[in-house]
Amino acid sequence: MNITELARRLRVPTEELRAKLPELGFDIGSKAIKVPDRDVGRIMQAWQEYKKRLYLEKKMLDQKARADRRIAVREGRAEVALLPAVMTVREFAGVLNLPIARVMQELMHSGILASLNERIDFETASIIAEDLGFRAERKEEGEAVKEEGAGISRLEEAKSHETKESLKPRPPVIVVMGHVDHGKTMLLDAIRHENVVATEAGGITQHIGAYQVVRKDRALTFIDTPGHEAFTVMRSRGAKVADIAIVVVAVDDGVQPQTKEAIDIVKAAQIPFMVALNKIDKDNANIEKVKSQLSELGLIPEEWGGKTVMVPISAKKQTNIDQLLDMLLLIADMEKEHIVANPNRHAIGTVIESHVDKGQGPIATVLVQTGTLHIGDTMGLRDLNYGKVRAMKTWNGEVVKEAPPSMPVRILGFKDAPSVGDIMEVPEDPKSLEKLKEQLSRKTGASEITVAALKMNEGDIVESGDEKVNLNIILKADVLGSLEAIVGMIEKIRNPYVGVKIVSKGLGNVTDSDILQAEATHAFLAAFDVKPMAAAAQLAREKSVEIHEYSVIYHLFEDVVEKLKILIPAERVYTELGSLEVIAVFKKLPKGMVVGCKVKKGKVELGATARVLRDGHVIGEGKIDTLQAGKSTVRVVEQGADCGIGFAGKTKIEIGDALEIYREEMQERKLNINNK
Ligand code: GDP
Repeated sequence: MNITELARRLRVPTEELRAKLPELGFDIGSKAIKVPDRDVGRIMQAWQEYKKRLYLEKKMLDQKARADRRIAVREGRAEVALLPAVMTVREFAGVLNLPIARVMQELMHSGILASLNERIDFETASIIAEDLGFRAERKEEGEAVKEEGAGISRLEEAKSHETKESLKPRPPVIVVMGHVDHGKTMLLDAIRHENVVATEAGGITQHIGAYQVVRKDRALTFIDTPGHEAFTVMRSRGAKVADIAIVVVAVDDGVQPQTKEAIDIVKAAQIPFMVALNKIDKDNANIEKVKSQLSELGLIPEEWGGKTVMVPISAKKQTNIDQLLDMLLLIADMEKEHIVANPNRHAIGTVIESHVDKGQGPIATVLVQTGTLHIGDTMGLRDLNYGKVRAMKTWNGEVVKEAPPSMPVRILGFKDAPSVGDIMEVPEDPKSLEKLKEQLSRKTGASEITVAALKMNEGDIVESGDEKVNLNIILKADVLGSLEAIVGMIEKIRNPYVGVKIVSKGLGNVTDSDILQAEATHAFLAAFDVKPMAAAAQLAREKSVEIHEYSVIYHLFEDVVEKLKILIPAERVYTELGSLEVIAVFKKLPKGMVVGCKVKKGKVELGATARVLRDGHVIGEGKIDTLQAGKSTVRVVEQGADCGIGFAGKTKIEIGDALEIYREEMQERKLNINNK
């Protein structure tokens, strides 16, 4: 195979591939045009591994840098950032004096998709600030008020106008967090199946992003999206959606990185939480060991004299689920002052699921947080009129006319699908809202920003003849909402050199045909919250197709960006070094000639490119193959000196010609997403 063809397949400049091959163990010679066919497969594999290695090394460096910054903060070496109680992302970046995109990237790294003007609270900001190497300190309230645009969340503001009498208890909203595979989904299923709200309609249960169960005549609302993603996204939009968190830890696996992360997030948000010690049915379950691991993190179980509620459960065997619900009720009782809302006002809620149904149009689930939502209410989102509530259904299919606080309802009547995390508010006066413009896209703020950062290379010159390289992608996801969010994010990536092409997308597990398509189109196969079918997994192994599994959107996005960075072609950069005058022609060589020159300006370097000019016109080009000053071979000759040059090129140089000397280098183009 031609090396150019191989380079094209690997999407690298030929020269880069040629230069790297010896390092990868393939010595095909520096001038070779062909690569032996038997080596092609091995080279492709070695190349992928090499790129993967580079990626991992970079990731490790990033992680190390992050860890170093944290240490600096802990050791008090870090700069102090004075932060108000609530601030927009833009203001936050302003205080840190960092590019917004850099801050956005760090937010995304922590699972927070917030746009420029979205508000984050001090707790969130201080974690991010620490990751960025700052020690966060709370700004005095007086100053915070002065802060332009900073304010308390809409929900809290509404609450501040309430009297004690108007606030009534409401069901607690619970979120489940913990390490992957520790059983969050299964726990949510177990709770749902055991304690459904009895419904006369006996409707069909639907995945609407949240559900309610009743225990001892009291309702509890569960956010049905496991993981901190949902939680942090919603928090970042200025609304504290969850009142209580359950941190799930599998007792056969113990405390893992995401367990710690979950605990950090919950603590930072100052949300009361309990621990579910899951999988106690397993033979290798070691409850005591996990308790002591948790104690090391400062979570001391009650039975050891501490304060953390821990309930051993088996989500699979449905063991102790009732006990867990009872504990949640107990925590809710302790927090009862906070778990209140005024049911007699215009509703305010948060969008927790959103998608476009082919037949019914945009549909979203809103968790009502205060007030009561009625059929016919006008829905205001970001001060825009998103339509009127036409119909509402609960998660078990029951049609309702009104939704009180803490009730999640699936709403029909949106003119456009809102974004998850959006705050919906029924206005006092519908006329106060602006009309929703057509084409208002379902965007997440973060993708806009990241993409804005991606776009910043657009000013660079595109080499003529270079066609844009596309990364093919095949996407599979569990729910339409996720799929759309991912597609929306990816579609906004714009760059003059590389692009993303979604070859296919769909819901459900990864199938044989996905694998075959990925193989045929060399596509990046991403599975979001879905797994490959057994046969597909086997086929993937046979075909060496990699299935990239994700459960966090920004991880998927990050990987796509990394892939794009690899695809971006190197740029040829010319640096002018100097100019020479030809004062003697010594001899002709088979592929060039030897001439004597005077350095008129700058310098000449061995290996540089020489452009030959006669009467001001370029007549040819070649390379400085040898360079001599007097009798000795040198690397550089500076202005004013004479030199002998071995010129490799076809041009016949004559006395009086001028040589313009350039250095030509291939420079990797940067595809920064951190705006540096
Ligand atoms: P998630 O990633 O935290 O949502 O975890 P899942 O709910 O998907 O569970 C991961 C795996 O653990 C699945 O294979 C479950 O069948 C298994 N699992 C979850 N809970 C239990 C449990 O209580 N006992 C046992 N033996 N397996 C469990």
